Amino acid sequence: MPGPFLIHHMVAPLWADIGGPLAPVSIRDQMLRAQSIVSEARHAGAIGAQRPFLVIGGGAAGAAAAREAALNGVPTLLIERNAHLFERQALCNTRWIDPAQYDWPHGWYDTGAYPVTSPAFPAAISVPIPWTAGFASNLAIQWRASVPVPGLSIACGWQLGARQPSLVGPASAPLLRVPLQSTTMKSASVTVGFVLACVGFGSESTSPPSGSTRGTAFWESDSLQTPTASRVLVAGAGDGALQDFLRAATRRKSALDIWQAGVGPLVSKEQLYLLTSAEELSARAYVWSDGRADKQIHADLHRVHQDVVDSIFAQAPPLSPLAPLLASGAEVQLVSREKHFPQCYALNRFLVLFLLKLDECLSRAEPTRRRRLGVHVASLDKIVEYGTTTSPPSAAIPPKLWDAVYSSAGGPQGPFDAIVVRYGITQPARPWWVPSAIARQALPYRPH
Ligand SMILES: Cc1cc2nc3c(=O)[nH]c(=O)nc-3n(C[C@H](O)[C@H](O)[C@H](O)COP(=O)(O)OP(=O)(O)OC[C@H]3O[C@@H](n4cnc5c(N)ncnc54)[C@H](O)[C@@H]3O)c2cc1C
Repeated sequence: MPGPFLIHHMVAPLWADIGGPLAPVSIRDQMLRAQSIVSEARHAGAIGAQRPFLVIGGGAAGAAAAREAALNGVPTLLIERNAHLFERQALCNTRWIDPAQYDWPHGWYDTGAYPVTSPAFPAAISVPIPWTAGFASNLAIQWRASVPVPGLSIACGWQLGARQPSLVGPASAPLLRVPLQSTTMKSASVTVGFVLACVGFGSESTSPPSGSTRGTAFWESDSLQTPTASRVLVAGAGDGALQDFLRAATRRKSALDIWQAGVGPLVSKEQLYLLTSAEELSARAYVWSDGRADKQIHADLHRVHQDVVDSIFAQAPPLSPLAPLLASGAEVQLVSREKHFPQCYALNRFLVLFLLKLDECLSRAEPTRRRRLGVHVASLDKIVEYGTTTSPPSAAIPPKLWDAVYSSAGGPQGPFDAIVVRYGITQPARPWWVPSAIARQALPYRPH
């Protein structure tokens, strides 16, 4: 009998899905979710030595699931439509990712590793693909090397076929025959005990509504931490947008770097506790709500973060140790549809609010200093490319400049030398016979 975790992710007979609209997610979370599904499927007898396993999608989740199953004696086939596993991360050498980064304000967020050794976790937890923090492209190389294990077949350049899978075998222990198709239009089919779809969350919206010019995608290499990006517009206020705001404003690779550069000691234990409980309450409200209350949930959480930031600066901390945080970064303007930020990871929200306040205080203390950071409630409609301002382009002036057009008043004016648009995700297309996966995970998960 499948357990609740597995049932919760099943979208069709012998078929579970951990992509699509499922939220919240991080790479670490996806790997743990995959591991939990495999563990429950094994214990329920859905996969085993005589019941092979098909995993669709060779990203963090699919590779972790396939490796975990094969290591436990389940003959496993992992199919990936691209030519290589982990292409998302492999193509990006400027993004720093960390398996514990989203655990702040819990005590182990600064380990840069998972599993953590903390009194909250038994030391024996194993994870499907152990890793420590690093740049995405380097991690993809490491992960690729650790995925192949005995019992696991990997077929890149293959995806689901167009025809619907069919149940075969005895009614008491049915199997699923699944048609497959290669990118070179070859056909095949496999008969398996269970299928796990890990096809990701879809394609990112990186352009405003009117206009074909797009900003850099989250998993592309960018110039945000270099002097080339000296005036940056960030449209959107979710996690990707806030992460980029922090990178451009400080030129530091991660939120943890900023936290450790003098912010951490200013936050008292009581304030951390307040933030922890606000985050926990908000996460629970989010998974159990149907979407109608989201705005209020995020607005309430935002207020707690803002109150903590305000109370830190009300103590008038010395500004000179904090000033270097903004000394060499870009001028960054954030355009958000609401005054509060939507769902995002706690440390990103906290640090953006912290830096905005720091910027305000530095400018108040030194009236000739221009404010470098801003948040505007507006809706970006279009990006316009200026072209070069000098001919021939000089090394000192970036070759391209951009302007922003808004569909409402209140947006900051260009030119900008980098614009990123983080307008969410469009879900992946599904075969007509695959119902959409669950949108929110209402059950806790952890490896068994
Ligand atoms: C804007 C943004 C910012 C993010 N920031 C972070 C961050 O800072 N840190 C972090 O940990 N996480 C972050 N995430 C989340 C992270 O990207 C995802 O959790 C993670 O990549 C999901 O892994 P996955 O394996 O489920 O999906 P993916 O990595 O998307 O992998 C899915 C794979 O399935 C393949 N596929 C799709 N359809 C088929 C098919 N029909 N047949 C075969 N193969 C198929 C795709 O080619 C792909 O390789 C972010 C996500 C976004 C969008």
